[in-house]
Amino acid sequence: MIPFNKPYLTGKEVHYLYQAVHSGKLSGNGVFTQQCHDFFQKRYNFKKVLLTTSCTTAIEMAALLIDIKPGDEVIIPSYTFVSTANPFILRGAKVVFADSSKAHPNIDVSKLEGLITNKTKAIIPVHYAGMACDMDEIMRIAKKHNLFVIEDAAQAIDSFYKDKPLGSLGHFGTFSFHDTKNIIAGEGGMLTINDDRFFKRAEIIWEKGTNRSAFWRGEVDKYGWVDIGSSFLPSELIASFLFAQLENLDRIQEKRKELWNLYYELLKPLEDDELILLPKVPAFSSNNGHIFYIICNSLEERTNLIAYLKNHGIYSVFHYLSLHNSPFYKDQQNGKELVNSDFYTDRLLRLPMFFELTNFEINKIAKCIIEFYHTPKSPKNKL
Ligand SMILES: *Cc1c(COP(=O)(O)O)cnc(C)c1O
Repeated sequence: MIPFNKPYLTGKEVHYLYQAVHSGKLSGNGVFTQQCHDFFQKRYNFKKVLLTTSCTTAIEMAALLIDIKPGDEVIIPSYTFVSTANPFILRGAKVVFADSSKAHPNIDVSKLEGLITNKTKAIIPVHYAGMACDMDEIMRIAKKHNLFVIEDAAQAIDSFYKDKPLGSLGHFGTFSFHDTKNIIAGEGGMLTINDDRFFKRAEIIWEKGTNRSAFWRGEVDKYGWVDIGSSFLPSELIASFLFAQLENLDRIQEKRKELWNLYYELLKPLEDDELILLPKVPAFSSNNGHIFYIICNSLEERTNLIAYLKNHGIYSVFHYLSLHNSPFYKDQQNGKELVNSDFYTDRLLRLPMFFELTNFEINKIAKCIIEFYHTPKSPKNKL
Protein backbone atom coordinates (compact mmCIF):
# COMPACT_ATOMS: atom_id res chain seq x y z
CA MET A 1 0.00 0.00 0.00
CA ILE A 2 1.07 3.59 -0.59
CA PRO A 3 0.10 5.40 2.61
CA PHE A 4 -1.28 8.93 2.61
CA ASN A 5 1.40 10.22 4.96
CA LYS A 6 4.60 8.88 6.46
CA PRO A 7 6.53 10.95 9.03
CA TYR A 8 10.09 11.50 7.84
CA LEU A 9 13.02 11.16 10.24
CA THR A 10 16.29 12.79 9.25
CA GLY A 11 18.36 10.47 11.48
CA LYS A 12 19.58 13.14 13.91
CA GLU A 13 16.38 13.23 16.00
CA VAL A 14 17.37 10.37 18.31
CA HIS A 15 20.86 11.81 18.70
CA TYR A 16 19.58 15.19 19.88
CA LEU A 17 16.92 13.53 22.02
CA TYR A 18 19.71 11.58 23.70
CA GLN A 19 21.56 14.83 24.38
CA ALA A 20 18.42 16.47 25.75
CA VAL A 21 17.66 13.47 27.98
CA HIS A 22 21.19 13.48 29.42
CA SER A 23 21.47 17.26 29.75
CA GLY A 24 19.76 17.29 33.12
CA LYS A 25 17.09 19.69 31.89
CA LEU A 26 14.02 18.07 30.37
CA SER A 27 11.45 20.84 30.85
CA GLY A 28 10.99 23.65 28.35
CA ASN A 29 12.87 26.82 27.42
CA GLY A 30 16.32 25.23 27.52
CA VAL A 31 19.22 25.05 25.06
CA PHE A 32 17.33 23.29 22.23
CA THR A 33 14.33 25.61 22.55
CA GLN A 34 16.72 28.54 22.23
CA GLN A 35 18.40 26.97 19.19
CA CYS A 36 15.02 26.54 17.50
CA HIS A 37 14.06 30.15 18.31
CA ASP A 38 17.39 31.41 16.90
CA PHE A 39 16.93 29.36 13.76
CA PHE A 40 13.52 30.84 12.99
CA GLN A 41 14.50 34.41 13.87
CA LYS A 42 17.63 34.31 11.71
CA ARG A 43 16.17 32.48 8.76
CA TYR A 44 12.85 34.31 8.45
CA ASN A 45 13.55 37.53 10.30
CA PHE A 46 10.60 36.86 12.62
CA LYS A 47 10.78 39.53 15.33
CA LYS A 48 9.92 37.15 18.13
CA VAL A 49 9.00 33.48 18.22
CA LEU A 50 7.94 31.08 20.98
CA LEU A 51 7.73 27.32 20.54
CA THR A 52 4.40 25.94 21.72
CA THR A 53 2.93 22.51 22.33
CA SER A 54 0.87 22.81 19.11
CA CYS A 55 -0.50 25.24 16.55
CA THR A 56 -3.79 25.01 18.43
CA THR A 57 -2.20 26.33 21.63
CA ALA A 58 -0.31 29.00 19.65
CA ILE A 59 -3.72 30.29 18.46
CA GLU A 60 -4.98 30.07 22.06
CA MET A 61 -2.05 32.26 23.12
CA ALA A 62 -2.88 34.79 20.41
CA ALA A 63 -6.52 34.85 21.55
CA LEU A 64 -5.37 35.59 25.12
CA LEU A 65 -2.94 38.26 23.93
CA ILE A 66 -5.61 40.22 22.07
CA ASP A 67 -7.98 39.83 25.04
CA ILE A 68 -10.76 37.98 23.27
CA LYS A 69 -13.87 38.22 25.46
CA PRO A 70 -17.50 37.06 25.32
CA GLY A 71 -19.32 39.18 22.76
CA ASP A 72 -16.30 39.63 20.49
CA GLU A 73 -16.48 38.37 16.92
CA VAL A 74 -13.69 36.85 14.84
CA ILE A 75 -13.80 36.11 11.11
CA ILE A 76 -12.35 32.79 9.95
CA PRO A 77 -12.76 30.71 6.81
CA SER A 78 -15.21 27.83 7.15
CA TYR A 79 -12.89 25.65 5.09
CA THR A 80 -10.32 24.94 7.80
CA PHE A 81 -9.44 22.69 10.71
CA VAL A 82 -11.36 23.09 14.00
CA SER A 83 -8.26 24.50 15.70
CA THR A 84 -8.66 27.80 13.85
CA ALA A 85 -12.03 28.29 15.57
CA ASN A 86 -11.87 26.56 18.96
CA PRO A 87 -9.47 28.98 20.70
CA PHE A 88 -11.97 31.81 20.19
CA ILE A 89 -15.00 29.73 21.20
CA LEU A 90 -13.07 28.83 24.38
CA ARG A 91 -12.83 32.57 25.18
CA GLY A 92 -16.59 32.99 24.65
CA ALA A 93 -16.32 34.80 21.32
CA LYS A 94 -18.53 34.34 18.29
CA VAL A 95 -16.96 32.88 15.18
CA VAL A 96 -18.19 34.33 11.88
CA PHE A 97 -17.46 32.03 8.95
CA ALA A 98 -16.22 33.38 5.65
CA ASP A 99 -16.41 31.63 2.30
CA SER A 100 -13.42 30.43 0.26
CA SER A 101 -12.69 32.11 -3.02
CA LYS A 102 -13.75 30.40 -6.22
CA ALA A 103 -10.26 29.76 -7.52
CA HIS A 104 -8.67 28.66 -4.25
CA PRO A 105 -9.73 27.20 -0.88
CA ASN A 106 -8.29 30.32 0.83
CA ILE A 107 -10.59 32.97 2.29
CA ASP A 108 -12.42 35.21 -0.22
CA VAL A 109 -11.05 38.64 0.67
CA SER A 110 -13.56 40.42 -1.55
CA LYS A 111 -16.34 39.39 0.87
CA LEU A 112 -14.46 40.20 4.08
CA GLU A 113 -15.71 43.72 4.70
CA GLY A 114 -19.33 42.56 4.49
CA LEU A 115 -18.72 40.36 7.56
CA ILE A 116 -17.25 43.07 9.78
CA THR A 117 -19.44 44.52 12.56
CA ASN A 118 -18.58 46.83 15.46
CA LYS A 119 -17.93 43.68 17.53
CA THR A 120 -15.33 42.25 15.15
CA LYS A 121 -11.94 41.99 16.77
CA ALA A 122 -9.81 39.81 14.49
CA ILE A 123 -9.45 38.07 11.16
CA ILE A 124 -7.79 34.65 11.05
CA PRO A 125 -6.67 33.88 7.49
CA VAL A 126 -5.57 30.28 6.87
CA HIS A 127 -2.85 29.70 4.28
CA TYR A 128 -4.32 26.50 2.86
CA ALA A 129 -1.80 24.01 1.43
CA GLY A 130 0.89 26.49 2.44
CA MET A 131 -0.30 28.95 -0.20
CA ALA A 132 -0.63 32.58 0.79
CA CYS A 133 -3.87 34.47 1.28
CA ASP A 134 -3.89 37.98 -0.17
CA MET A 135 -2.17 39.53 2.83
CA ASP A 136 -1.85 43.11 1.50
CA GLU A 137 -5.60 43.27 1.11
CA ILE A 138 -6.28 41.57 4.45
CA MET A 139 -3.90 43.94 6.28
CA ARG A 140 -5.44 46.95 4.52
CA ILE A 141 -8.93 45.94 5.66
CA ALA A 142 -7.69 45.13 9.17
CA LYS A 143 -6.01 48.52 9.48
CA LYS A 144 -9.06 50.37 8.23
CA HIS A 145 -11.33 48.65 10.79
CA ASN A 146 -8.76 48.42 13.58
CA LEU A 147 -8.67 44.61 13.68
CA PHE A 148 -5.98 42.13 14.63
CA VAL A 149 -4.76 39.56 12.12
CA ILE A 150 -3.60 36.11 13.27
CA GLU A 151 -2.23 34.06 10.37
CA ASP A 152 -2.98 30.37 10.75
CA ALA A 153 0.23 29.28 9.05
CA ALA A 154 -0.01 25.69 10.35
CA GLN A 155 0.68 24.38 6.83
CA ALA A 156 2.81 27.27 5.67
CA ILE A 157 6.35 26.70 6.91
CA ASP A 158 8.94 28.17 4.53
CA SER A 159 6.31 29.70 2.28
CA PHE A 160 6.08 33.30 1.15
CA TYR A 161 3.77 36.13 0.14
CA LYS A 162 5.62 38.36 -2.34
CA ASP A 163 8.93 37.16 -0.83
CA LYS A 164 7.81 37.87 2.74
CA PRO A 165 7.64 34.76 4.96
CA LEU A 166 4.13 33.68 5.91
CA GLY A 167 3.63 34.13 9.62
CA SER A 168 5.46 37.48 9.53
CA LEU A 169 2.69 39.60 8.01
CA GLY A 170 -0.15 39.59 10.53
CA HIS A 171 0.14 40.70 14.17
CA PHE A 172 0.71 37.03 14.94
CA GLY A 173 1.42 33.84 13.02
CA THR A 174 0.95 30.26 14.18
CA PHE A 175 2.72 27.14 12.92
CA SER A 176 2.29 23.39 13.44
CA PHE A 177 4.88 20.64 13.76
CA HIS A 178 2.25 17.88 13.96
CA ASP A 179 3.47 14.75 12.21
CA THR A 180 1.26 15.41 9.18
CA LYS A 181 3.10 18.67 8.41
CA ASN A 182 6.33 19.31 6.45
CA ILE A 183 8.52 19.75 9.54
CA ILE A 184 7.54 17.61 12.52
CA ALA A 185 8.04 17.09 16.22
CA GLY A 186 5.22 14.60 16.89
CA GLU A 187 3.05 17.35 18.31
CA GLY A 188 4.36 20.89 18.45
CA GLY A 189 3.88 24.42 17.23
CA MET A 190 5.11 27.97 17.28
CA LEU A 191 3.76 31.47 17.76
CA THR A 192 5.35 34.37 15.90
CA ILE A 193 4.80 37.80 17.43
CA ASN A 194 5.25 40.58 14.91
CA ASP A 195 3.99 43.52 16.98
CA ASP A 196 6.42 44.49 19.75
CA ARG A 197 3.59 45.69 22.03
CA PHE A 198 2.99 41.99 22.75
CA PHE A 199 6.55 40.71 23.31
CA LYS A 200 6.58 40.91 27.08
CA ARG A 201 3.09 39.64 27.75
CA ALA A 202 3.54 36.76 25.28
CA GLU A 203 6.45 35.43 27.34
CA ILE A 204 4.45 35.74 30.55
CA ILE A 205 1.40 33.92 29.19
CA TRP A 206 3.76 31.29 27.78
CA GLU A 207 5.37 30.78 31.22
CA LYS A 208 2.05 30.08 33.00
CA GLY A 209 1.44 33.70 33.94
CA THR A 210 4.82 34.24 35.59
CA ASN A 211 7.69 36.54 34.69
CA ARG A 212 10.17 33.67 34.82
CA SER A 213 11.71 34.44 31.41
CA ALA A 214 12.62 37.95 32.57
CA PHE A 215 14.00 36.44 35.79
CA TRP A 216 16.33 34.07 33.89
CA ARG A 217 17.63 37.02 31.90
CA GLY A 218 18.35 38.84 35.18
CA GLU A 219 15.84 41.62 34.46
CA VAL A 220 13.94 41.07 37.73
CA ASP A 221 15.33 39.67 40.99
CA LYS A 222 12.45 37.32 41.76
CA TYR A 223 9.68 35.84 39.71
CA GLY A 224 6.02 35.34 40.49
CA TRP A 225 2.47 35.34 39.28
CA VAL A 226 1.88 38.52 37.28
CA ASP A 227 -0.87 37.70 34.74
CA ILE A 228 -3.05 34.90 33.38
CA GLY A 229 -1.27 32.15 31.46
CA SER A 230 -1.06 28.45 30.85
CA SER A 231 1.39 25.68 30.08
CA PHE A 232 2.19 26.51 26.49
CA LEU A 233 5.89 25.69 26.19
CA PRO A 234 7.01 22.29 24.95
CA SER A 235 9.68 20.24 26.74
CA GLU A 236 13.28 20.11 25.57
CA LEU A 237 12.54 16.60 24.26
CA ILE A 238 10.22 18.12 21.64
CA ALA A 239 12.60 20.99 20.87
CA SER A 240 15.58 18.66 20.39
CA PHE A 241 13.62 16.52 17.96
CA LEU A 242 12.45 19.61 16.09
CA PHE A 243 15.96 21.00 15.83
CA ALA A 244 17.09 17.91 13.89
CA GLN A 245 14.30 18.56 11.42
CA LEU A 246 15.18 22.24 11.07
CA GLU A 247 18.75 21.38 10.16
CA ASN A 248 17.30 19.50 7.18
CA LEU A 249 14.62 22.00 6.24
CA ASP A 250 16.06 22.85 2.82
CA ARG A 251 16.41 19.22 1.83
CA ILE A 252 12.88 18.39 2.98
CA GLN A 253 11.34 21.38 1.20
CA GLU A 254 13.19 20.78 -2.04
CA LYS A 255 12.07 17.16 -2.21
CA ARG A 256 8.43 17.96 -1.47
CA LYS A 257 8.33 20.63 -4.17
CA GLU A 258 9.84 18.17 -6.64
CA LEU A 259 7.12 15.61 -5.83
CA TRP A 260 4.43 18.29 -6.12
CA ASN A 261 5.68 19.36 -9.54
CA LEU A 262 5.80 15.77 -10.78
CA TYR A 263 2.17 15.21 -9.78
CA TYR A 264 1.22 18.43 -11.53
CA GLU A 265 3.00 17.52 -14.75
CA LEU A 266 1.58 13.98 -14.88
CA LEU A 267 -2.01 15.04 -14.16
CA LYS A 268 -2.02 18.14 -16.37
CA PRO A 269 -3.48 16.23 -19.37
CA LEU A 270 -6.57 15.42 -17.27
CA GLU A 271 -7.05 19.10 -16.53
CA ASP A 272 -6.49 19.96 -20.19
CA ASP A 273 -9.28 17.51 -21.03
CA GLU A 274 -11.47 19.30 -18.46
CA LEU A 275 -11.86 16.14 -16.37
CA ILE A 276 -10.37 17.48 -13.13
CA LEU A 277 -8.98 20.74 -11.77
CA LEU A 278 -5.45 21.11 -10.41
CA PRO A 279 -4.31 23.49 -7.65
CA LYS A 280 -3.74 27.10 -8.68
CA VAL A 281 -0.85 28.78 -6.92
CA PRO A 282 -1.79 32.47 -6.56
CA ALA A 283 0.66 34.80 -8.35
CA PHE A 284 1.69 36.43 -5.06
CA SER A 285 2.35 33.09 -3.34
CA SER A 286 5.13 30.53 -3.23
CA ASN A 287 4.40 26.83 -2.99
CA ASN A 288 5.92 24.80 -0.13
CA GLY A 289 4.78 21.39 -1.37
CA HIS A 290 2.65 20.73 1.70
CA ILE A 291 -0.45 19.30 0.02
CA PHE A 292 -1.15 18.04 -3.46
CA TYR A 293 -4.85 18.01 -4.25
CA ILE A 294 -7.14 17.57 -7.23
CA ILE A 295 -10.73 18.78 -7.62
CA CYS A 296 -13.28 16.20 -8.76
CA ASN A 297 -16.63 16.91 -10.46
CA SER A 298 -18.87 15.77 -7.65
CA LEU A 299 -18.94 14.18 -4.23
CA GLU A 300 -20.00 10.90 -5.83
CA GLU A 301 -17.13 10.94 -8.30
CA ARG A 302 -14.66 11.67 -5.50
CA THR A 303 -16.06 8.83 -3.36
CA ASN A 304 -15.67 6.45 -6.30
CA LEU A 305 -12.14 7.63 -6.99
CA ILE A 306 -11.10 7.16 -3.34
CA ALA A 307 -12.42 3.58 -3.51
CA TYR A 308 -10.76 2.97 -6.89
CA LEU A 309 -7.39 4.17 -5.59
CA LYS A 310 -7.74 2.10 -2.44
CA ASN A 311 -8.42 -1.01 -4.54
CA HIS A 312 -5.12 -0.24 -6.26
CA GLY A 313 -3.21 0.12 -2.99
CA ILE A 314 -3.28 3.90 -2.74
CA TYR A 315 -4.63 5.89 0.21
CA SER A 316 -6.08 9.30 -0.63
CA VAL A 317 -8.16 11.48 1.68
CA PHE A 318 -10.66 14.29 1.39
CA HIS A 319 -10.21 17.34 3.52
CA TYR A 320 -12.24 19.65 5.66
CA LEU A 321 -15.92 19.27 6.25
CA SER A 322 -16.82 22.96 6.27
CA LEU A 323 -17.11 24.14 9.87
CA HIS A 324 -20.31 26.12 9.24
CA ASN A 325 -22.07 22.80 8.55
CA SER A 326 -20.52 20.96 11.52
CA PRO A 327 -22.77 19.41 14.18
CA PHE A 328 -21.25 21.83 16.69
CA TYR A 329 -21.97 24.98 14.71
CA LYS A 330 -24.69 24.45 12.10
CA ASP A 331 -27.57 25.73 14.26
CA GLN A 332 -25.78 29.07 14.59
CA GLN A 333 -25.25 29.48 10.86
CA ASN A 334 -28.90 30.39 10.19
CA GLY A 335 -28.98 28.74 6.79
CA LYS A 336 -26.39 31.11 5.33
CA GLU A 337 -24.67 29.35 2.43
CA LEU A 338 -20.95 29.31 1.71
CA VAL A 339 -20.93 27.83 -1.75
CA ASN A 340 -17.19 27.72 -2.41
CA SER A 341 -16.43 26.22 0.99
CA ASP A 342 -19.02 23.50 0.26
CA PHE A 343 -17.53 23.04 -3.22
CA TYR A 344 -14.10 22.20 -1.75
CA THR A 345 -15.65 20.08 1.02
CA ASP A 346 -17.34 17.87 -1.58
CA ARG A 347 -14.72 17.77 -4.31
CA LEU A 348 -11.20 18.27 -3.04
CA LEU A 349 -9.09 15.12 -2.86
CA ARG A 350 -5.62 15.01 -1.29
CA LEU A 351 -3.10 12.59 -2.77
CA PRO A 352 -0.25 10.89 -0.85
CA MET A 353 2.47 13.43 -0.06
CA PHE A 354 5.50 12.71 2.08
CA PHE A 355 9.28 12.99 1.85
CA GLU A 356 9.93 9.32 1.10
CA LEU A 357 7.33 9.08 -1.66
CA THR A 358 9.14 8.01 -4.84
CA ASN A 359 8.79 9.16 -8.43
CA PHE A 360 7.84 5.59 -9.26
CA GLU A 361 4.95 5.72 -6.78
CA ILE A 362 3.74 9.08 -8.09
CA ASN A 363 3.75 7.68 -11.60
CA LYS A 364 1.67 4.76 -10.36
CA ILE A 365 -0.82 7.07 -8.60
CA ALA A 366 -1.16 9.36 -11.62
CA LYS A 367 -1.59 6.41 -13.97
CA CYS A 368 -4.32 5.03 -11.75
CA ILE A 369 -6.20 8.37 -11.69
CA ILE A 370 -5.92 8.69 -15.46
CA GLU A 371 -7.28 5.15 -15.85
CA PHE A 372 -10.20 6.00 -13.57
CA TYR A 373 -11.15 8.98 -15.71
CA HIS A 374 -10.80 7.03 -18.92
CA THR A 375 -12.84 4.02 -17.89
CA PRO A 376 -15.69 4.05 -20.43
CA LYS A 377 -18.20 2.37 -18.08
CA SER A 378 -18.43 5.43 -15.86
CA PRO A 379 -18.76 8.47 -18.14
CA LYS A 380 -17.64 11.56 -16.29
CA ASN A 381 -19.39 14.87 -16.40
CA LYS A 382 -17.19 17.61 -17.73
CA LEU A 383 -16.43 20.40 -15.28
C1 LIG B 1 -2.71 21.16 11.39
C2 LIG B 1 -3.50 22.39 11.49
C3 LIG B 1 -3.82 22.99 12.71
C4 LIG B 1 -3.52 22.34 14.03
O1 LIG B 1 -2.19 22.13 14.30
P1 LIG B 1 -1.77 21.37 15.65
O2 LIG B 1 -0.31 21.59 15.75
O3 LIG B 1 -2.15 19.94 15.46
O4 LIG B 1 -2.53 21.99 16.77
C5 LIG B 1 -4.47 24.20 12.70
N1 LIG B 1 -4.83 24.81 11.56
C6 LIG B 1 -4.58 24.25 10.36
C7 LIG B 1 -4.97 24.98 9.12
C8 LIG B 1 -3.91 23.02 10.28
O5 LIG B 1 -3.67 22.47 9.09
